[in-house]
Amino acid sequence: MKADVQSRLADVQNAITRAAQRSGRTAGDVTLIAVTKTHSVETIRAAINAGVFEVGENRVQEAEAKIEAIGHGSVKWHMIGPLQANKARRAVKLFDMIHSVDSIELARRLERLCVEEGRKELPFLVQVDLGHEPSKSGIAEEELPSVIKEMSGMRRVKAVGLMTLPPFFADPQLTRPFFRRMRVLCDELRAGGYFNQIEIPHLSMGMSHDFEVAIEEGATMVRVGTAIFGERS
Ligand SMILES: *Cc1c(COP(=O)(O)O)cnc(C)c1O
Repeated sequence: MKADVQSRLADVQNAITRAAQRSGRTAGDVTLIAVTKTHSVETIRAAINAGVFEVGENRVQEAEAKIEAIGHGSVKWHMIGPLQANKARRAVKLFDMIHSVDSIELARRLERLCVEEGRKELPFLVQVDLGHEPSKSGIAEEELPSVIKEMSGMRRVKAVGLMTLPPFFADPQLTRPFFRRMRVLCDELRAGGYFNQIEIPHLSMGMSHDFEVAIEEGATMVRVGTAIFGERS
């Protein structure tokens, strides 16, 4: 199991390096987030020993025990799944970054909770709804400027980029236009001054089957589970 994780991780890292080069960048420009939902603390520790520095979980409840066991010393924790209002306080206490801020109300709530919990800064990504699928949340393209404008006035929570979960296609080339659209949106928002001091806003997009295409189109963060840990049971 450990050897499997190690060799699959190496394959993913190599694929990231090659895709980054195809996009005129280097591996250092792309952050790999190892998605560990359903996997044990032992498996996460094996991944950390093999060179994982960033971990993604999609449920607060499940992440809590893992974060308590492993801590923040050697890894950063990313909340990548839908965040319910009643879990927001725990998310503020637990996670280094939240990828799934899908409404202005959630951003306001996180801001208030940061004050209450004495957290000075919480970076987050704005989840964008490109595919308009009922099962996926996010903010519609046309609302992004006004929403991010309000978010950029908040003191503790800080919008540092965009995230998306595009529609699933078995052929990742079919996802390419969605990734490309995200890049254009991100560039437009940055040019318009919406991400105030941030030089290169993050673009969190791409999963096991399509992260290479996402990187070619400008992803700065990829969220990869299955390709590192195998199929989830
Ligand atoms: C599970 C999950 C991933 C990783 O999916 P894989 O296909 O296993 O790489 C990425 N992003 C989110 C939001 C997820 O929930």
